[in-house]
Amino acid sequence: MPGGITLRHWHDECGVFGAWQDPEAARMTYLGLYAQQHRGQESAGIVSLKGSEHLSHRGCGLVGEVFTESVLEHLEGSAAIGHVRYSTTGLNEQINIQPLMAQLLNGPVALAHNGNIVNSHILRRELKEQGAIFQGTNDTECLLHLLARHPSDDIVTCLRETVPRLEGAFSLVLLTRDRLVALRDPMGFRPLVLGQRPLEGGGSSYVVASETCAFDLIGAKLVREIEPGEIFWLDSEGEHSEFLPSAPRRAQCVFEHVYFARPDSTVFGLSVYESRKNMGRILAQESAVDADIVIPVPDSGVPAAIGYSVESGLPFELGIIRNHYIGRTFIQPSQSIRSFGVKIKLNPQSQVIRGKRVVVIDDSLVRGTTSQKIIRLIRQAGAKEVHFRIASPPTTGPCFYGVDTPKKSQLIAAQQTQEEIRRFIDADSLSYLSIEGMLKAVGARDQEYCAACFDGQYPTPLFGLDQEET
Ligand code: AMP
Repeated sequence: MPGGITLRHWHDECGVFGAWQDPEAARMTYLGLYAQQHRGQESAGIVSLKGSEHLSHRGCGLVGEVFTESVLEHLEGSAAIGHVRYSTTGLNEQINIQPLMAQLLNGPVALAHNGNIVNSHILRRELKEQGAIFQGTNDTECLLHLLARHPSDDIVTCLRETVPRLEGAFSLVLLTRDRLVALRDPMGFRPLVLGQRPLEGGGSSYVVASETCAFDLIGAKLVREIEPGEIFWLDSEGEHSEFLPSAPRRAQCVFEHVYFARPDSTVFGLSVYESRKNMGRILAQESAVDADIVIPVPDSGVPAAIGYSVESGLPFELGIIRNHYIGRTFIQPSQSIRSFGVKIKLNPQSQVIRGKRVVVIDDSLVRGTTSQKIIRLIRQAGAKEVHFRIASPPTTGPCFYGVDTPKKSQLIAAQQTQEEIRRFIDADSLSYLSIEGMLKAVGARDQEYCAACFDGQYPTPLFGLDQEET
C-alpha cells in the first residue's frame, strides 16, 4: 500500500445543503437535511453565518435527534450549510462530523462534502510531511489544509488553484464570512443542484442541495444543476460562476439512479422514479418469465416492479409489507427464531403469495444474504415458484467514489457465477438487468455515467485503494 496508510473513509455516503440570503437559513438547512436523511444516518451538522462569524452544531444521530428547537434558534443568520453522513467504520468520531470548520486568512470557512477524494491518502501524507496537523481521519480535511496553505485570501482563487490537485468525487458546499460556494468535480460523480425559495415579503433566497427532494419540502424551485467542474458562488453582489479545467469525460454515478437517491428526486436531469421504472421495463423485456404476479422488495424495488408489471402484463401485488418504524436498536428474542433479522423489517403476505408463481423485483443484489432470507420467507408463505429479478447488473466491484459497498470479497457476484448465486439464494430462476439496459434506462450517452461497481471501469486512477479492497 503506498505510504502504508490504513485509515480510509471512501465509504462515506453523504448529503449536503446550503441556503443564502434566507431569513430562515438554519431552519431551511435543517429541513433540507431532513429530506436527505436517506443519504446518511450517522451524523448531521449545520453551520450558520451571523455577521461575519460562524455558529455551529454537529452531532451523531439522525437529523431529528441532533437538532432541537433551541439549537436551531441559536443558529442565527441568513446563510447556512449542512451535512448528513453515513460512515461504515467505527471512525465516526465527533471530529469527523461535517461541515468541517477552520479559520483561514480571510476568516472562518465551513466545508460540507459529498463524495470521496481518491488520492486523499497521498495528499494527506504529503501535507503531514510538511507539518500539517490533522484532526480527523476523513478525506475532506485534505482540502481544508490545501486551502489553508494557499497564500490568497480569496476563497475562489484558493479553490481554483487547489481543487485540480484532487482526484475523485466531490460535490462541495462552502461557507465563508461573505460567500456561499457550491462546487462539483469535473467528472460530476455526485449530484448538486441549485434552487430558489420564494420569500414571504417578496424576492427569493438561494438554496443548494444534493437532491431536489430537499427543495420540494421547503417550497423551493429547481433552477438548474451545478455543472461538472463548476465553481458557483453567491456574495453580496449576487451569483457568479466559473469552470475548472474540463475532464476528458463525465462520470455521473449510475447507482444514484439504481438505489441511492430518493425516487421523488430529479438527478442528473432525470426523474429517479422514471429511470427506475424504465429499469423494470427493460428488465421485463430482457428476462421475461411465465409467472402469476410481480412483487417488489419494498421500498427499493417498488418503481422497478411497477415497470416490470406494466411491460410484462403480470399483475403488480404488494406481496411483502415493510415495517417503517425500525429503530436503531431492538431487543433480540431470547430464543432463536428463523429468519428473525429480516422479519423485523419485511413480512410476506401469504394470502397474496400462496400457490402463486412469483416474480420478485429488487433494485440490486450485493452480498446476497438479504435476498436469501427474503426468498426463504416467500417460500414459507406458500409461493409455488420464486423468480428473482434484479433491476441492475451484478455488483462486481466496490465504489471508491462515495457509495458504501462492501469489499470485493463480500460481493457475491464478484465471487460466484449466476447459477451459483441462484442456488445460494434458492430462487427458481435469477436474472439481472444488462449494463446496456441500465444505461438505456437512464438515457445515457457515451461515457456520461460511472458504472464502475458493475463494469469495473473506474474513471479515475485509484491510487492503490483497490489493492486494499480485495
Ligand atoms: P444484500 O444482497 O443482502 O447485500 O442486500 C442487497 C440490498 O441492499 C438491496 O436490496 C438494496 O436495496 C440494498 N442496498 C444496495 N446497496 C446498498 C448500500 N450501498 N447501502 C445500503 N443498502 C444497499
